[in-house]
Amino acid sequence: AKKRGKNQIVLFNDELAKHFNQRSAIINALKGAISNNEFTLHFMPIWDKKATRIAGAEVLIRTKNKLLQSVGPDKYIPLAEENNLITPIDLWVIEESFKYLTCIIKDFPDRKFVIAINISGLELTNSKFPSQVKRLLDKYQVPSEMIELEITETCFINCTQDNVEVLNELKAMGFKLALDDFGTGYTAFNQLLNFPVDTLKIDRSFVNAINQDTPGKQKNLVDVILSLAEIYQLKIVAEGVETHQQLSYLSALNCDFYQGYLLSKPLIWLKFYHLLETEKI
Ligand code: C2E
Ligand code: CA
Ligand code: CA
Ligand code: CA
Repeated sequence: AKKRGKNQIVLFNDELAKHFNQRSAIINALKGAISNNEFTLHFMPIWDKKATRIAGAEVLIRTKNKLLQSVGPDKYIPLAEENNLITPIDLWVIEESFKYLTCIIKDFPDRKFVIAINISGLELTNSKFPSQVKRLLDKYQVPSEMIELEITETCFINCTQDNVEVLNELKAMGFKLALDDFGTGYTAFNQLLNFPVDTLKIDRSFVNAINQDTPGKQKNLVDVILSLAEIYQLKIVAEGVETHQQLSYLSALNCDFYQGYLLSKPLIWLKFYHLLETEKI
């Protein structure tokens, strides 16, 4: 038993060492990708109420760095947050999105379009953030009402007055604000009124639960979120729509917008642009 115990410790240390090596490799890769400009954006179409027309797109970060590619943004964005690397990334994504938006406005004038940009919840604790974004807005002269900033719901749970202040400043610049992954953070419904929020993005897990035969609690939550949105006059985006069943369920509940593999995967700019072109009147 003693021997096994010792082996377990060795194994644990190996695992731990591997874990820390991978972490520091990812952090180095992030630093490299930031300074060598190795990021790109993909566009995930957001579809209108009838799921027939593109109402906008969420931009998602991608990179040609092999290590970062292999772990994905779900893993490297939190590491960027822990290591003071997130603000340069967020600002890069915002600036790049503004450039693409300029192009969309030029080539598809009069088109109703909203570009949705993910920003880290940490920016709410960064008092310089609003002025940095303002500088980019002035530089590219894009209409802020065509831009929605997505922040995950969990950042709102311990929201301080300073955090709300940053949100108010962004809102005052004309941006729309969305609560991302809504339903996972257990925001008290009445608390929603304290935030200048326009949109709730229903987390994929709740949409996914629509598949299951037994109408469980999560399926009921979709119904609750949609009626809540009606009361508070918030727009709803359903994320992760993968089946026709989910789409028809949501559309019966009068959902406003849809996103998911059923309708489209995230696209490179050229493919997204062509998709918009096919919709040109
Ligand atoms: P998120 O904001 O919730 O983004 C949605 C994620 O779900 C994306 O993964 C997208 O590809 C994926 N997805 C969309 N529709 C479906 C579907 O129907 N089925 C399935 N299975 N997945 C779907 P991705 O691109 O790997 O992004 C993961 C997370 O990384 C994002 O979650 C967001 O929190 C973060 N992230 C991505 N891009 C950025 C960025 O530019 N800046 C910041 N700060 N965070 C980002
Ligand atoms: Ca998002
Ligand atoms: Ca989400
Ligand atoms: Ca997410």
